[in-house]
Amino acid sequence: MTTVASTADASAVLEMTAAIHAWEAAASGDLTAEEFKAWVSERIAAHEVALAALLAVEGKRTPENSLRLYDVAVEQLNLAGAQAGVLNSVAADTAVRDQAQEEAQRVSQAGTALSLNRDVYLALAAIDLTGASEATRHYVERTVLSYRLAGVDKDDATRAHLNKLHERATELSLAFSRNVQEGAKTVVVQDAAELEGLPEDYLARHTPNCDGHFVISTDQPDMQPVMTFAKSDALRERMFLAYHTRAYPENKQILLDLLAVRQEIATLLGFTSWANLATADQMMGSAANVRTFIARLEEASRAGAEREFRMVLKFARERKPGLTEMNAASRGYWYEQYRRAAYDFDSQAVRPYFPYAQVEQGVLDTAAKLFGVVFRKSSAAGWHADVSVYDVLDLDGETPVGRFYLDMHPREGKDKWFSATPVVTGVRGRYLPEAGLICNFPRPELDENGNVVDPGLMQYNDVVTYFHEFGHLMHAILGGHTEWAGLSGFATEGDFIEVPSQMLEEFFRDVELLQSFARHYETGEVLPAELIRKMKLAGAFGRADGMRTQLYYTTLSLDLHDQDPAGIDLDRITKSLYESLQPWKWIDGNRMYASFGHLMGYSSNYYTYAYDKVIALDFFRQFDPANLLGCEAAAKYRKLVIEQGGSRPGRQMVRDFLGRDEAFSAFSDWLNEEFAEELAVSAL
Ligand SMILES: [Zn+2]
Repeated sequence: MTTVASTADASAVLEMTAAIHAWEAAASGDLTAEEFKAWVSERIAAHEVALAALLAVEGKRTPENSLRLYDVAVEQLNLAGAQAGVLNSVAADTAVRDQAQEEAQRVSQAGTALSLNRDVYLALAAIDLTGASEATRHYVERTVLSYRLAGVDKDDATRAHLNKLHERATELSLAFSRNVQEGAKTVVVQDAAELEGLPEDYLARHTPNCDGHFVISTDQPDMQPVMTFAKSDALRERMFLAYHTRAYPENKQILLDLLAVRQEIATLLGFTSWANLATADQMMGSAANVRTFIARLEEASRAGAEREFRMVLKFARERKPGLTEMNAASRGYWYEQYRRAAYDFDSQAVRPYFPYAQVEQGVLDTAAKLFGVVFRKSSAAGWHADVSVYDVLDLDGETPVGRFYLDMHPREGKDKWFSATPVVTGVRGRYLPEAGLICNFPRPELDENGNVVDPGLMQYNDVVTYFHEFGHLMHAILGGHTEWAGLSGFATEGDFIEVPSQMLEEFFRDVELLQSFARHYETGEVLPAELIRKMKLAGAFGRADGMRTQLYYTTLSLDLHDQDPAGIDLDRITKSLYESLQPWKWIDGNRMYASFGHLMGYSSNYYTYAYDKVIALDFFRQFDPANLLGCEAAAKYRKLVIEQGGSRPGRQMVRDFLGRDEAFSAFSDWLNEEFAEELAVSAL
C-alpha cells in the first residue's frame, strides 16, 4: 500500500468502498472462511491506508484533514470487528465460525496497536480545534485522554513494560474466563427422595445411572432448578458449593496474579489504584465516587431488604418449625415458596399470552411509536435464512434511517446468549447504521399450510429481555447518524451503555402497553389486569434483597481493585464483605471469587449495572404514564439522549434530559414497590 499524502488523496481514502456486508462477499451461495478472511483483510488494509495518510499530513492539522482519516481507520476496524463478532456467534458453518474468531482476534490486535500508536496520538493532540463543533471537540479530547491512560506519552522503556503487562493481563484474563466457562462439577444424588420439589420435566430429563444414582451438573439448566425448587437443604448446599468452586482452585492464583498486574499498570500510569485508572474516563470518574454511590445504594436498599428477609424467615419457620437460620443456599428456594404463597402467582400462567410472533410485533410497535419511526420488512439478505431484516424509516415512510436484523431463535452451532450488536457503524452522509439482535427465544412452528403447530410461548422474563435488547438496538440505529464513526451508537462511556436498554425494560411494566399485544394464543383473551398485577408484585418482592447481592458484587469488584493486592486474602475478604451486607448465612467453602467472571471484563466497574438502573428509572419517571409513547418526554429522550450516541459525555446527556443530575428517588421507590402497593401478606 502506498501512503496518501495530500488532502485530495485523503478524500480518495474516503471513497474506498467495498461490500459493507461480509456475507455479500460470497462469490456464490454461502460465504466461505477464505472469502470472509479476504473481506476482513480489505478492511484492515483500508484501516492502514487511512492511518498512513493521517501521519503523512503536512502543515496545520485540522479535524477535516486529520481526524477524518483517523475516523475512517476506526470505522474500518469497527466494521470488520462487528461482523467478525456476528459471524462468530451465528455462522452455520464451523469453518466460518472458527475463521470469524481468528478474524476477531486480528481486528482486536489492530485495535490494540492503534491504541498504543504514539505517532497517531501526537497527530490527534496537534489538531487545531478552533471553531470545531462540540462533538468534534469531545471526540478529540476523549481519544487523547484514552491514549494518555494507555501510557502512550511515557518513555520507550515504560511503554515497552506496559505492553508486556497488558499482554500478561490479557493472558490471565482469558485463562480465568476459560476455567469458568469450561469448569463443571457434578453432584451425585443417591437417594431419589432428595429430588423432591423439582419439576416433572426436570425429573424426566434426569434418570438414574447404572448404580441407581442421579448425576447433576453445575451447568445453568441443571443447577438453577435445584437451587429454586429442591426441598432438600443438603442437596442445595452441595450444589451451591459445587457451583461456586467449579473454577477453584485454579483461578485463585490467576486472580491474585491479575490483580497484581493491574495494580502495576495503574502505578506506572501514575494512579494510586487500578479502580482509579479504570474509572478515569468513565462517568463515575474515580474510585471515591464509586464508594459514595455504593453508600447510597446501601442506604436505599437496607430497610427493604431487612423487611423482605424477615417476611421470608417468618414464612419459612411456619412451614418448617425449628428452623433457626437460612443460609445462602436457601435463598432461591424460600423466595420461590414465598412468592407462590403470597401472590398466588405461577409464572407459567402468563406464558399462553406471550406467543413469540405477537411479542415481536408488540415490541416493534412500541418502539416505533416511542421513537417516532416506521419499520418495514425488507427483502435484503441477512447472514442466514432465519434472519428477518427490517428497514427503519422516518415517519414520512420514505427517508431511510437504518436497518436491523433479527436472528431470534436457537439453531445448531449458534451462540446461546441474548445480545444486541452493531453490524455497520453509522456515520452521517457515509453509512446508514445497521444493527442486529442475536437471541434464543422459543421458535414458533408452522405446518406447510401456515397453521401454527407450536406458538413458541415465552416466559415473561424473556419478554423483558426482548425489550432490553431492543433498547440497545435502537441506540445503535438512532444514535448512528453522528458526524464521526468514533461517536456512533454505543460509543458512550462504558458506564452509560445500559441506560437505554434498562429504560426500555420499564415499558413492559405498563398495563395498557402490555395488553396491547399480550393475548391468549388460543382464545385471543387479553392478559387480565389482575394477572398483570400479581405478576408485577411477585416480581417486585425481593428486589431490595436482590439489590444487596448486586451491592455485594459491586463492592467486591471495587475493593479488589482499590488496595494493594499483596495484602488481599480472597477468602477473608469475600466472607467478611458478605457477612456485612447479607442476612443469609455464609457457607464455608464458598469460593465465589474463583468464578466471578465479571472481574475480567468489568474489573472494578461492576457498579455499572446498578448505576445505570438508577439513571434509567429516573429517566422513565419523566414519561407521562397516561401517554407513555406519545408524550413530550419521548421526543426529548430520542433527541437529547439516544440520537447523541457518544457525541456528548453521559453526564451532560443526563443533565440535558433531566435538567439536573439523576436522583435516587425513582430507584428507591422501585426497590420498595411491593410495599407501596400495600398488598398485605396478611393471608399468611
Ligand atoms: Zn444490556
